[in-house]
Amino acid sequence: MVPILDLKREYQELKSEIDAAIQRVLLSGGFVGGPEVAALEEELAAYLGVPQVVSCASGTDALILALRAMGVGPGDEVITTPFTFIATLEAILHVGARPVLVDIEPHTYNLNPALLEGALSPRTKAILPVHLYGQVAPMGEILAFARKHGLLVLEDAAQAIGARYLGEGQAQMAGTLGQAGAFSLYPSKNLGAYGDGGFIATADPALAEEARLLATHGSKVRYQHVRALGYTSRLDALQAAILRVKLPYLEGWNARRRAIASRYSEALKHRLLTPCEMPYAHHIYHQYTVRHPERDRLAAHLQAQGIGSSVHYPLPAHLQPAYRHLAQEGRLPVAEAAAREVLSLPMHPFLEEAQVEAVIKAVLSF
Ligand SMILES: *Cc1c(COP(=O)(O)O)cnc(C)c1O
Repeated sequence: MVPILDLKREYQELKSEIDAAIQRVLLSGGFVGGPEVAALEEELAAYLGVPQVVSCASGTDALILALRAMGVGPGDEVITTPFTFIATLEAILHVGARPVLVDIEPHTYNLNPALLEGALSPRTKAILPVHLYGQVAPMGEILAFARKHGLLVLEDAAQAIGARYLGEGQAQMAGTLGQAGAFSLYPSKNLGAYGDGGFIATADPALAEEARLLATHGSKVRYQHVRALGYTSRLDALQAAILRVKLPYLEGWNARRRAIASRYSEALKHRLLTPCEMPYAHHIYHQYTVRHPERDRLAAHLQAQGIGSSVHYPLPAHLQPAYRHLAQEGRLPVAEAAAREVLSLPMHPFLEEAQVEAVIKAVLSF
């Protein structure tokens, strides 16, 4: 059996280091916030090359806190993609704003910048691109459009920690290109905790300060609350200590994912649509997602051969029962077609060569 993801394997590799980190926290008696969390925030900021990192309880909270700290709220519209995990949309609704969906590019599955103009209204306040599957959205065009129209940009970088945008000049980390980036530390993400977690990255100290305030009950000085409707959204010390063990491995793990992706693509590109590497994006393959018109039959075939696979995502947001008011069926045809045809193959840094070859063989025998 080749599972799509193998977190037990990862823990076995790191067991002694992780166990020591957990012991350190248990013996310290400090479980929420504290020095482990502060150190992790600094290490993440250094890794991403960004001045401010604010940790919180999840990637979803990172999106909500960032939107609120950016001043997005009732009466505002936020342009985003229908082809994402639902948290992107939930965050916009949670702050009282209205999501405006634009279709995706057929080859990258990311927001299509050519369609931004048509989604613009006097109420548009921000753009929320998602770096889907670990590939950076076309940020050059998105940022230029935002600048031209005075819009804010929040990046959903939940799937893209360590991905880079290779625009003009120096490579820049995904999630550090707009006013803020929201990251998830959910266990299955490229840098995952052993529970929930997330963070915001930003170069704007006022935005970071506001997010921090909101995440701790609108309070900076204990028992003084300067914002109503804050949250209790914190990363706990055990997760921070575990993440501090894992962070130094992230670059190597992402490189391994890229090597596996390259082997998959070389072997499979004549049989089905393999991921498209864009010249401006250093893809970190959170998912390795192919496309086939008979997707469900392919998945069943793989299952019968002991190969795991998964669909990210079977429905675009506007076809979800709870989100049908956002757009009519047929209005976002590229996302709708992608949802019918995409399939993610096993992808994690601990896949062995023999497992990679078994996946390839099973796909080729379809
Ligand atoms: C995982 C994910 C989120 C939410 O992160 P959580 O930590 O699970 O709350 C948001 N957006 C995208 C694109 C994701 O993949």
